[in-house]
Amino acid sequence: MKSGELNSYGVQEITELISKNIDAVLLVDEPENKYRTIIKKGFFQKFLKEEGEYKELIEELWFHLNESQKKITEDYHVFIPTFGKFEGKYSKKLKLSFDGNSKVHVIQMTVYPLGDERYMFLMDDLDNSEYIQEYLTTDKVSTIQNTYLFSMYIDLVQNTTSSISITEISDDTVHSSISYTEWRMMIVNMIGEDDQSLFLERTDPEYLKKNFAPGRTSSFDCLMQNLEGKYIWVKLIFSRAKTTNEDDYRFVFMVQNIHENSVELFNELTKYEELALMDSLTEVYNHGRMETEIINALYSKKKFGTSIFLMMLDIDYFKHVNDTYGHSVGDDTLRVFVDIICDCIDEKDTTVGRWGGEEFVIVVYETNREKVLEIAERIRKNVEETIFPVVGQVTCSIGVTEMKADDTSEKAFCRMDKAMYKAKNEGRNCIRELYTCEESDD
Ligand code: GH3
Ligand code: MG
Ligand code: MG
Repeated sequence: MKSGELNSYGVQEITELISKNIDAVLLVDEPENKYRTIIKKGFFQKFLKEEGEYKELIEELWFHLNESQKKITEDYHVFIPTFGKFEGKYSKKLKLSFDGNSKVHVIQMTVYPLGDERYMFLMDDLDNSEYIQEYLTTDKVSTIQNTYLFSMYIDLVQNTTSSISITEISDDTVHSSISYTEWRMMIVNMIGEDDQSLFLERTDPEYLKKNFAPGRTSSFDCLMQNLEGKYIWVKLIFSRAKTTNEDDYRFVFMVQNIHENSVELFNELTKYEELALMDSLTEVYNHGRMETEIINALYSKKKFGTSIFLMMLDIDYFKHVNDTYGHSVGDDTLRVFVDIICDCIDEKDTTVGRWGGEEFVIVVYETNREKVLEIAERIRKNVEETIFPVVGQVTCSIGVTEMKADDTSEKAFCRMDKAMYKAKNEGRNCIRELYTCEESDD
């Protein structure tokens, strides 16, 4: 560059240059809560008025800020009078996105105090890909810092360890004098009790030597104590160095924080598992889940001698409800019927499910014949006395049996079913019991 070129810039030229290159310039009077826009270009036209309330502008800007909560509050105090006066200069890159648009604008924002709590704001939209790259790298590094808790080099032949930092953060390698064997015994104390044996198995030098070909990586998940003593889900990753020497057993070991994702995933799974077990119309257990319940109940009976009763409930003349009032009223009737059942039982030791159509099964634990008949009668009576929307009175027939140690689930189910049909045959709206095989065989 010729020196004459530099000399051709005066204040006037510089001012023109700034107005050409900076996307937005505004003046702020904080005590008066006002701003005035001197220059606005590009996407700043969307939210900068010619004049406006300063607080409104700040709220608008911050509403669109695309940073972590912590970063936002860090910067916020500079602009908001309630955080105290700000008299200094401020320059920072901020990320903004507008109109629900996923495009993120990187804004270089500079604040110059003009005295008396008046300021000049310079804002520039940095759409230069270099700046975006710089941001992505910062994001990546902070992700790595948050994600990888620590990592080690391990040499199984020399039985040494040295801690490493992720190269993008720092190249330092801290050589520790601790042997791999000692190190492993130290780490195992940080692992959740249930996972300690898995940790010891997978970190055993012989296991690693046997299962890792050169260049192979493998991992397993477990609970590990963090610095605050809280157990979090981590992924322990072992990766053997690529080597042509079969007797060279160098590994990199990394601990990745997967807590948030895992917890979210487990919650999702539990939710779906629950949904899969529910009858979608009545929100009690479905047929499949009740089959499992009866099989598990039988197991408790055989193993612990728990007293268990089974009950089948079938709505009387339900076809008539559908035929007269339609299916949707029929569905509503089923829901009200289930509400009555649930009001009559103690959820703690009772399981309710829809066997199909208008038939429901109840398993009652830790009980006796009198108590079960009491529950059955309470349900029968409450159903009979409830005025169902649209249809009025509804009744049901109930069959009861007790589970026996020499039962199969089919036998027990068959007795309960026969007891219910007995109630149907003997006039409906009543309860019948069946306890012996002979009775159920006829
Ligand atoms: P009974 O007193 O002998 O039990 O007579 P019923 O009419 O209740 O018995 P039946 O088995 O003949 O009829 C059951 C009816 O239940 C047939 C069907 O229309 C109805 N149903 C089954 N599943 C559903 C459902 O999910 N919603 C509705 N609305 N109706 C159902
Ligand atoms: Mg039926
Ligand atoms: Mg019926």
